Amino acid sequence: MTVFKRLLVLALVLSGCSKAESPKDSITYENDVERIINTLAADDMRGRQAFSEDAWVAARFIASEYEAIGLEVFAGNGDYLQAFPIYETRTESLDVRLDGAQVAPEHMAGSISSDQLSWDGDSDITRVFVGPDDDLATVWRQYRRSGNTLVGVHSSHADMFERYQGFMSRPSRATELSSGANLVMVLTDSHDLSGVRVEATAEVSTSEITNVVGVIPGNRADEIVVFSGHYDHIGFREGEEDPIFNGANDNASGTTATIQLARYFKSLGTPERTLMFVGFTAEESGGYGSRHFSKQLDPSQIVAMFNIEMIGKPAVEGPNTAWITGFDRSDFGTILQEAVEGTVFAFYPDPYPSQNLFYRSDNATLARLGVPAHTISTTPIDVDEDYHQASDEVSTLDLDHLSNTIDAIAAGAALIVNGERTPTRIDPALVN
Ligand SMILES: [Zn+2]
Repeated sequence: MTVFKRLLVLALVLSGCSKAESPKDSITYENDVERIINTLAADDMRGRQAFSEDAWVAARFIASEYEAIGLEVFAGNGDYLQAFPIYETRTESLDVRLDGAQVAPEHMAGSISSDQLSWDGDSDITRVFVGPDDDLATVWRQYRRSGNTLVGVHSSHADMFERYQGFMSRPSRATELSSGANLVMVLTDSHDLSGVRVEATAEVSTSEITNVVGVIPGNRADEIVVFSGHYDHIGFREGEEDPIFNGANDNASGTTATIQLARYFKSLGTPERTLMFVGFTAEESGGYGSRHFSKQLDPSQIVAMFNIEMIGKPAVEGPNTAWITGFDRSDFGTILQEAVEGTVFAFYPDPYPSQNLFYRSDNATLARLGVPAHTISTTPIDVDEDYHQASDEVSTLDLDHLSNTIDAIAAGAALIVNGERTPTRIDPALVN
């Protein structure tokens, strides 16, 4: 039995899906799964690194699939591509004076978010001193992405200071220019930072990256179910024997699933809830795609988010099983379990809680806004030797398992898609 037929049977069996119409003949789901994942993970996509032209090639391919399926575009987007700018700033010059004396280059570091910065004793900035007994790492985490902060670092932290200097010399990216996150650090034993003057300039460049979004409008326009997977990966490394990181499992597999779920749900006619299918960009380099997406709509209207990551290898619990991150943060997982009761499929809580996988994908961005947003995966991440390696190729995957997992998600989503069940919201205060 093809996956396609099996899905149709499921659709007829599951309540609320009795409106199943006969989808386009001659195209089986299995053929599509193979074709799509092979296209996305092909060497000529060169690892789909978000800030490269390769990612645009991948995005346009996903858009062409959405078009063939007959999805609508997201309101306000001209087409399936949801493009947005990213600003990259690289500190060009930095001049710091402590009570008039110029600070040596090896004793200062600056990361600024606009083209120029000028602070003196009267500037409204936060001044922090990290003494010998204080923790530099804590201060760094607290201030590196917010506000205007001048940090004096005691010379006993000189080694650590040098490491942070390295981080800060790299270009920094932001979704808005002059986001207000400016951090200057000075190696000094003086607690009094009131006499510090800072002059800095940065070179700003802009690049455009894109999500891919398709919609099936439902009877309830303001109740949205999101199916997502990031399509970007980590690119290629010149000079290696196998230079291309294909990202077949991570995350051509999840992207394939979102396209196939779109095809499946479209074949069922108008759903009760509105369905959105999203290929996120830049999950691997800052999560900018999901952050941008989350600002284009009202998160309170998103009833659930099925984020799909790495479903090309069978899970530890055995065939036809998948696991869900942050299982007990909402009753999303319980609803999926209920929906597949009596089928061959089963959903489990994430078996690797110590890996913090709930926070390691795009679902976390939406969960922070209260959305029951979880990642569904099957990958044996603790022993997976291909994870983030050039060897993450289609040949290492089990495509039958991939097709089965797509079926499982389609079945698991039925009660949420048809409006019968609504997962509890995630408490944003508990998502840090
Ligand atoms: Zn991933």
